Order: sequence, then structure tokens, then C-alpha cells
Amino acid sequence: MNAVRLKFIELFQSEPLLVHAPGRINLIGEHTDYNEGFVMPAAIHMGVQFAFAVSQNNVSQIYSLKYNQLFNLELTNPAKVESPAWANYFLGIVNRLNAIGAPLQNFTCVFDGDLPTGAGLSSSAAMECGFVVGLNELLHLGLSRLEMVHMAQWAEHQYAGVKCGIMDQFSSMMGKKDHAFLLDCRTLAYEYLPLHLGDYELLLCDTNVKHSLATSAYNTRRSECQHGVEVLQKSFPEVTALRDATVLMLQTCQQQVPATVFNRCLFVVEENARVTEAALDLKKGDLHAFGKKMFTAHEGLSKQYEVSCPELDYLVELAIHAPGILGARMIGGGFGGCTLNMIHRNAVETFITTTATAYHARFGKTMNHYRVKPGAGATVVMNG
Ligand code: ADP
Ligand code: MG
Repeated sequence: MNAVRLKFIELFQSEPLLVHAPGRINLIGEHTDYNEGFVMPAAIHMGVQFAFAVSQNNVSQIYSLKYNQLFNLELTNPAKVESPAWANYFLGIVNRLNAIGAPLQNFTCVFDGDLPTGAGLSSSAAMECGFVVGLNELLHLGLSRLEMVHMAQWAEHQYAGVKCGIMDQFSSMMGKKDHAFLLDCRTLAYEYLPLHLGDYELLLCDTNVKHSLATSAYNTRRSECQHGVEVLQKSFPEVTALRDATVLMLQTCQQQVPATVFNRCLFVVEENARVTEAALDLKKGDLHAFGKKMFTAHEGLSKQYEVSCPELDYLVELAIHAPGILGARMIGGGFGGCTLNMIHRNAVETFITTTATAYHARFGKTMNHYRVKPGAGATVVMNG
């Protein structure tokens, strides 16, 4: 945060308003969001940091410390730009602020992040959320958290072209230190869950495999789930999304769908139930039971939903046999990205070294790792 503040003072000669917006992980509940089910995200301590002030002249300027680039933003014309790509997240927010007639004034901004980009920790949501929280505070716009969540999601859809669910922006905005939350993707009702990890830590292992298959497979999975719903509806009209289905209902209709569709739907129904059970585990402080569900979830993602890849499966396999690990699973859309491990703090160092070595020997690729802590949602940290 200090680097951002100092750069701001150097460029704009005033003490800024400072904002931090976090990335997020999802502890359990994968591919349940678009089936109107439950997810269990947590904001993390890593994120994007911003410095803001009202402009002293009639231009709005944003400086990326990461790319050493300055962008001049026209408040009255926030059209999408070819480059820099990072500016589009902010332009999307300005578009929404104009749409509701917010009283905007020119501003200056410097930002930087300690989140890896494109690793599935949602640096993009942190960009959108931190920016809108900053302008809301700086210009006294009086927006609610939920209004800002929707603006951030809109920016991601329309300006970044990523048709994400609500989870990423919701988590970055609503996160609470040492808590995860149970989020109902149908109603957006949510409940904070204590995440008392004690001697355990959350460790991300990054396969460094990029999701080349992810978009097409994602669309296929969505239509397979939809297919399941259409068939289920004939016998059970109350089912409007897989969230409404039970294993028994699925079994009743098993002969009417291809085996693949059955397996996809079964995974979603089971995964959705796992999220609510895992929430009870956290309330009881039973991390062992929680960890087992992470392993089971991975098995389902790999075998039933088929969105894993050899690299992810290998990292989870190593975790199963390693000492001090309660659970591990792939996180995110799949076909690459990270595994999430719940691991005893005394076992972390050894696990990272042995796993990175084995991973390199097997795939010739580097394994990155991030030790993450559940953190607070987007907040003003200092009001200059
Ligand atoms: P993810 O959200 O999984 O990290 P995305 O591809 O959705 O990946 O978003 C990453 C993009 O967000 C980057 O390509 C960049 O444009 C922007 N971004 C994220 N963090 C920063 C940062 N610290 N500085 C500049 N741009 C950033
Ligand atoms: Mg993103």
C-alpha cells in the first residue's frame, strides 16, 4: 500500500484516500453458481490497492504501477478501449455511474496489486470493486455495497466480456476477516461462516496451466445442466434449476438422459448438498470433516463433471498422501489454475518443496504457490 501512496504523492502532490480490495477463493461449491445453488467463497488478504484524490485540473488520470502506464479517462465518454486492457474495468464502472446519474467529478488514481493475475483469484473483481468503493467514498456517492457489486459484475460482463456469476464481485465487496460465507446464488442471501483455521492454513498450488479448454467446456457444461433440468421438469415441474433437484429425482429420470448428462447433473446436485453440509462443519469447527469434502468434491469434478486435468489431479493425489493435509481440490472453472489445500502449518514448507519438485519432474512445469488468509472485503484503509 505504501508504494501506491508514495507514487500518488510523487505524481499528484497530495495525500490520497487509500482503498484495498481483495481477491477471493471458493472453499467449496464449484459449478453450482449457474445452477442457482450455493457457493462458499472467502475474500483473501491479497488484492489490489488504490490511492485516490479529487483532480486539481479538469482531467481524470489513472496510473498503473504494475505496468507504469498513465491513462486519461474522460468521464463523459467511458467507451471501451483497445489498450490498456486494465482501463476497461474502470471504464465499465464509470459507464454505470453515468447511467444512474451519479454526480461525478474528475479524479486522480494510482493502483497496484499483489494478486497474481489470471490465476483464478479474481484480480479483475478486485479492480472493479476497489475502484467503485474508492469513487463512492471520494465523491460521496452514497451507493450501497450491493449496488456496487452489481456495477462491478456489469463491468466484467460488458467491458471485459466475461459472463461471470455474482460470486467474485460479491466476495471482493462483502468479505470479512477470518470468515467465509455461504452464498445462495439464486437469492443472494448470505451468511458469514467462521473460518477458525487454528494450526491449519490455506495453500494454493498453481499448475501454471492456462485454461485453453475452459470457455467451450464451460458452455457445454451449462447446456448439459440445462438439458437435465428440461428432462427433470417433465416429471417434477417444481425444478427450474438443478438446485431444486434431488438425487432421487435424478435417478427417476436416469433412463431419459445420456449417461454424460446424468453424471453432470448428479455432480451438481451432490456438490450443492456438500456446500450446506460443509457450512455445518465450519460452524462446528470440524476441519477434518470439511477437508474430506474437499477431496470428495475434487473426485466429482474430475470423474463426474470432467473439468480437471492431469496436472490438477496429480497435485491433489500428492496431497492425499502427504502428511498434515485435511483436504485438497481444484478450484475455479477447471482445466488448469490452482488447487486449494487445507494444510497444517508445520507441514507447509515440506509439502511445497516436495510437491514443486515432483510436479516439475512429471510435467516439466513450475508450480507456484500462495499461502492465503481469509481477509476483509473492499475497504477504505486511510482517508487522506
Ligand atoms: P483473474 O481475475 O482470474 O485474476 P482476469 O483475466 O479476469 O484474471 O483479470 C486479469 C486482468 O486484470 C489483467 O490482465 C489486468 O488487465 C487486470 N489486472 C489485475 N490486477 C492488475 C494490476 N495490479 N495492475 C494492472 N492490471 C491488473
Ligand atoms: Mg477475472
